[in-house]
Amino acid sequence: MAQQEIPYKIYLEENEMPKAWYNVRADMKNKPAPLLNPATGRPMTAEELSGVFCRELVAQELNDTDREIPIPQEIRDFYRMYRPSPLVRAYCLEKKLDTPAKIYYKFEGNNTSGSHKLNSAIAQAYYAKKQGLRGVTTETGAGQWGTALSMACAYFELDCRVYMVKVSYEQKPFRREVMRTYGASVTPSPSMDTAVGRAINERFPGTTGSLGCAISEAVEAATTREGYRYVLGSVLNQVLLHQSVIGLETKAALDKYGIVPDVIIGCAGGGSNLGGLISPFMGEKLRGERDYRIVAVEPASCPSLTRGRFAYDFCDTGKVCPLAKMYTLGSGFIPAPNHAGGLRYHGMSSILSQLYHDGYMEAVSVPQTQVFEAAEYFARCEGILPAPESSHAIRAAIDEALKCRETGKEETIVFGLTGTGYFDMVAYEKFHDGKMEDYIPTDEELEKSFAGLPQIG
Ligand SMILES: *Cc1c(COP(=O)(O)O)cnc(C)c1O
Repeated sequence: MAQQEIPYKIYLEENEMPKAWYNVRADMKNKPAPLLNPATGRPMTAEELSGVFCRELVAQELNDTDREIPIPQEIRDFYRMYRPSPLVRAYCLEKKLDTPAKIYYKFEGNNTSGSHKLNSAIAQAYYAKKQGLRGVTTETGAGQWGTALSMACAYFELDCRVYMVKVSYEQKPFRREVMRTYGASVTPSPSMDTAVGRAINERFPGTTGSLGCAISEAVEAATTREGYRYVLGSVLNQVLLHQSVIGLETKAALDKYGIVPDVIIGCAGGGSNLGGLISPFMGEKLRGERDYRIVAVEPASCPSLTRGRFAYDFCDTGKVCPLAKMYTLGSGFIPAPNHAGGLRYHGMSSILSQLYHDGYMEAVSVPQTQVFEAAEYFARCEGILPAPESSHAIRAAIDEALKCRETGKEETIVFGLTGTGYFDMVAYEKFHDGKMEDYIPTDEELEKSFAGLPQIG
């Protein structure tokens, strides 16, 4: 068969864009375990969940059966402003690596928020608006989720209240100003606005906050204010569902040229981009139609899949959220302060955790200096300045391509390039100045954290 010339960028036409999200749970024999009410130990009901989350999103969260969930026209219209995102053939990287492997990456950094998070933010804002709510609350760590949600809320004219981990609030003033440009109110957490924030400030004077604490504040702010709900940017089933747009576009673009990947790689924090990228491929795998290697890449400093326990745990440090069954390092686990960039979450999406547990995917962990080496290597040949999170996937893709150089195998590698790193230059600076350290938790530290897991099942 004649080899068709593959362009540098494979774009889809607007009419080739997905009209429905793909719900991988419908094809899973072992469904992800349900969220549990920490007070009763019983599965959270739709009614209980809808006090915190928007009604339609609760329905999506609990939907294990519908394979396709239509994307409302309003969301598809917004997607059209920045999607389809390109699937790029990394010709320059292949050449520099001198590898017979063919490398493709799906680039999600082409919107102002700079990452894939906008795909779910716009959906969540839409359902909040449709329910007639006044606004939403959330937390943000590094700031990508807060930025994406601010943009989405501005579009639907919703109030957006972001609790930003205090240390990031102070260290990332530009992120904060982008959010305020889109009309969000940004509060450093722990704040004095909420009971939980005041309690934490009193107990730990001068604390610079944590993601777990910001979640607790955002949940309180939503549940004590009329017309507000809480929204979350990763981990939840609904977020993976929205992010399936990444995988559906990737698959459609590959299919256009008859390309079948051997291995699909993505970075894993809470699991939303990876879950979204792999969903349609995983579906084929689950239905026994095709086989792919699927690899999750996580930081060695926060290794939930590779070294965590598969158990019920709290989703937040404040223990106000439902319990989720997942690979976890324990809700009290806090990654080393020198860990740069995101991917700091102690747990992992229940869907991905179940798939990993059942042997449908692999996981590797990489130390951060190797991640930044890969980031720089990639920036210098492919032109894009990658986010540190995304660079975990770059590292693993490069390692896979180097293996192909040894074996001569012409593998096709697809990886998710989730975003750009313009707001992460302090981390890049540390790397360039030789001041970046690799921190890997000891078994003793992890055991100590596992000891705090709730005793369930
Ligand atoms: C938030 C983020 C991630 C990690 O989150 P997941 O839910 O695991 O996808 C990865 N890359 C970028 C650029 C992000 O902003």
